[in-house]
Amino acid sequence: MPAIERLDGPRGARIYRLPMRVYTGLEANAYVVVDGAYQALIDTGSGLPESDEDLAAGFEALRGDGVSWESLDRIIVTHGHIDHYGGLDYLRARTQAPVAIHAYDRRVIEQPHEHHTAVGRELERFFAEAGLDPAQIGEAMALYHTPHQRVLGIPAEAVLADGDLLDGRFQVVHAPGHCAGQVCLQLGDLLFSADHILPETFPHLAPESTAPWTGVAHYLAALDRVEALPGVRLTLPGHGAPIADLAGRIAQLRTSHLRKLERVQAARAEARTLVEITRLVYPRLRPYHALLALEKVGAYIEYLG
Ligand SMILES: [Zn+2]
Ligand SMILES: [Zn+2]
Repeated sequence: MPAIERLDGPRGARIYRLPMRVYTGLEANAYVVVDGAYQALIDTGSGLPESDEDLAAGFEALRGDGVSWESLDRIIVTHGHIDHYGGLDYLRARTQAPVAIHAYDRRVIEQPHEHHTAVGRELERFFAEAGLDPAQIGEAMALYHTPHQRVLGIPAEAVLADGDLLDGRFQVVHAPGHCAGQVCLQLGDLLFSADHILPETFPHLAPESTAPWTGVAHYLAALDRVEALPGVRLTLPGHGAPIADLAGRIAQLRTSHLRKLERVQAARAEARTLVEITRLVYPRLRPYHALLALEKVGAYIEYLG
C-alpha cells in the first residue's frame, strides 16, 4: 500500500494525500480535506479492486483523525476519467455524501454507458481517418471498451462551473483540454490541479474533433488561466507528489509542448497519414500507448491546422 501524506491547509485545515493503485503501473491520488467539521473527498480512484482497497485502507488509517465514510460531506470528481471517478460505485455503498462534477463531465458519471458509446463512435471514426486498418481498429476499440464495463450511473448533486465557490471553500477553475470538464480547485494557498498539471508527465491530450473542450488550444489557454491564479503555495496533482514551484512546472510544460509541436511538424513533412506521422514521432510504443500517441499527435495536427 502506498504511504499517506499529511499536508497543512489554510486556517488549520488538514489535507491527506491517499495514493491508490488505479491500474497496473499507475497510481492516482485521492485527497481528504478536513476543514473544521467539514470533510471532503477529492477523486475516487478507478474502482478496480486494488484501487478500492487502497482507498479503504486510507480511510481506515485516518479513522483516528476523525475521518470516516459517514462523516464525509462532499465528494468532488475533478474530471470524467475512470481513474478519478471509477470508485464512485464503491463509495456510494458507503456514504451518501453528495457528488460534485463539472457540467461538461456530468454525463460521464450519470449516464456512463451512453457517454462511453458516444465517445467510442467518435474514436472509431478518428482511428479510421487516421489510417488504421479495420483489424487494428477492432483491437483499438477492444482496448477502449475493457476498463469501463463495471461503472453504474451516479447522479451528480452539484454541477460545477468556472468561478463557483463550492461549499464556501473551493474556488472552481475550469481547465479544459485534458478532459472537457476538468477542474482545478483552489483552497486558500493550495491548488488541486488534478490531471491539468502533473509533476512528471505532460497530460494526455486528444483532438477536440473527438470530444468538445479537449485538445491543445484549450489546454494551453487553461494553463495561462491557472498561472494567473494568485497566492498558490503548493499544487496537489491527480498523480504523483505535490508540486512546490507551480510557475516552474508550467514553464516546463510549455517547453515540452513546443518540443512536441516541432517534432510533429517535422514528421508531418515526411508522412501522409496520422498513423505514419505518429510512428515517426513515437517509433517504439506498445499497442495501448500507441493509440494514446495517435490521439496526442492528432491533437497537435488539429492545433497546427
Ligand atoms: Zn485524466
Ligand atoms: Zn488521471
